[in-house]
Amino acid sequence: MSNRIVLLGTGTCQLQPHRMGSSVLVELGDTRLVFDFGRGITHRLVEQGLEQDDVEHIVLSHFHPDHLSDLIPYLHAAAWSQIDPRNKDLHIYGPVGLEVQLMRLLSLFGPSTMSRDAFDVHLHEIHDDHFTLAGRRFGFVDLPPADNHGLSFTVDGKAVVLTGDSSFHEQEVACLQDVDLAVIDSGHLEDHELLELAVRSRAAVIVCSHLYRELDEDELNAQASARGYAGRFIVGQDLMPFDLGA
Ligand SMILES: [Zn+2]
Repeated sequence: MSNRIVLLGTGTCQLQPHRMGSSVLVELGDTRLVFDFGRGITHRLVEQGLEQDDVEHIVLSHFHPDHLSDLIPYLHAAAWSQIDPRNKDLHIYGPVGLEVQLMRLLSLFGPSTMSRDAFDVHLHEIHDDHFTLAGRRFGFVDLPPADNHGLSFTVDGKAVVLTGDSSFHEQEVACLQDVDLAVIDSGHLEDHELLELAVRSRAAVIVCSHLYRELDEDELNAQASARGYAGRFIVGQDLMPFDLGA
């Protein structure tokens, strides 16, 4: 299997049919994970042809609804769907507080609504700045505010960062330093901050996601280039794929 990411959602809490809550599907060989799971991501997974048992790992950047609300329909379907019931265990990873937050969510409708004997849901609180998933090492980088954490990994010699919800600060510049591909929250950043992030981090490709407003890709690239940025901005769209090599 090859390596790639797919933007499942590039939106926010705003209700837009073309932009679901921000989420990224990560496929590294035979390891598949979904980073964040907000509004509409269940549908995006179905649109990708993925069944319940195709997704065994979900990583949450933080606990805001636009990053986890679709766990409710997803787990409900896992337990009760007659066309695609889940048989494999599901592993959910996230910051400290995950167990309390998820136990509240899972118990909201009673004990049997979102679980069945056919599978277990395992919760993994991440206490460090990295963790291991299916034998692979991932960075889990503190990127304020909202106790948010970005996900970083290296595959086929390429460094990739997904920021979740991050405002612009020194930690974000450091996190993106010289990476090959970054998918960033650009909804909380002003244009001048996007430009400064690009110029200072020298990230080769910066994909704008978590979009509260539409961005002018050509204008952004022209301004960045004028300031000496050699990389490229791409304004993300739902279901846009990025190849990460074999
Ligand atoms: Zn958000």
